[in-house]
Amino acid sequence: MLAVAKAMLAPLVEKGVKNGKPMELEIGIIANTDFNAFAYTGYEVDLIAINIGAINRIIHFYRCIFSHNENWPEYGENHTDQVPLFVQSDTTSPLLSLQREQSSHTFIQTSVLYMIFHEFAHIYNGHADWVYRVSGHPLQEIFERQSEEVSFEDWQTLEWDADQFAVYQLLVQTLTPEVDFSTRPTKWRLLNNNALGDTKSIVKLVSSVVLTCHFIMAALDNNPINNANGRRHPPEYARQYYAFGAIPLNLDARTELGWDTGNELANAGAIEAIKAWARIFQVSPVHPFYEDNIDFSADLISIYIKRWRKLYPALNKLKRGGELASPQN
Ligand SMILES: [Zn+2]
Repeated sequence: MLAVAKAMLAPLVEKGVKNGKPMELEIGIIANTDFNAFAYTGYEVDLIAINIGAINRIIHFYRCIFSHNENWPEYGENHTDQVPLFVQSDTTSPLLSLQREQSSHTFIQTSVLYMIFHEFAHIYNGHADWVYRVSGHPLQEIFERQSEEVSFEDWQTLEWDADQFAVYQLLVQTLTPEVDFSTRPTKWRLLNNNALGDTKSIVKLVSSVVLTCHFIMAALDNNPINNANGRRHPPEYARQYYAFGAIPLNLDARTELGWDTGNELANAGAIEAIKAWARIFQVSPVHPFYEDNIDFSADLISIYIKRWRKLYPALNKLKRGGELASPQN
């Protein structure tokens, strides 16, 4: 699982520079049962660590999902003679027929990639170095540390950037398009088929995984998910809105698909994720483009865009490589 992430990030790491030397990245697992992940930047090596608790929850969750034939019916039926599992009551691993077993692995892998790409953004885009320089503390993902030096607005803006980077990476790494780097935004020629499937099924996978990861974080969040005050991460409603929205936005700006088709493909994943969640937990999450959510999220995003303009010059000096999101648009 981690080797796949390392291989996908290798082209960026190869171009990355740290303190004037080539960048070195380690990715590891920590024996801690909390749902958490870390981006740590030492003097020579950059490190991403994922807690085993996060990976275990994701594995169990998707095995539960695929034990229900109603979830993702396009991946075939589960022929094993077992009652579908629910997360609350049962933590054993279900038996899955081969195709559903393989499909659950794809979803687990994609979820872990989403987490790793998010942490990678904290390193590659200079967030972790910046936080360490201004506060003297390493950047720790879920821990809601109060800090005089780094405002909640700054924190949320960095998280917003990391989420956007992660969605972009997930799309480009799963769709594997031919990328034209000479234009801004870069243009993608979609292959329409690769080892993961066709464009439609890949976008559905990415959209579903992105939303499900945020549903999990919303479920574990003790803070109100629709209030931005006093918290390090944007509230989960806003994260779901812009992380899901980044899928049709990228497809519209970079491919021939356009907004409507991109949105339709992403929406198929959102609906599947919401239905699957409701079956497993008996609680139905709201759609990320839920009406009441739009103004609330758009207001927050305009705050982050303004904050990004202020943070950009410092981050641009600390980034490992590549290009940060433009402060202009
Ligand atoms: Zn983060």
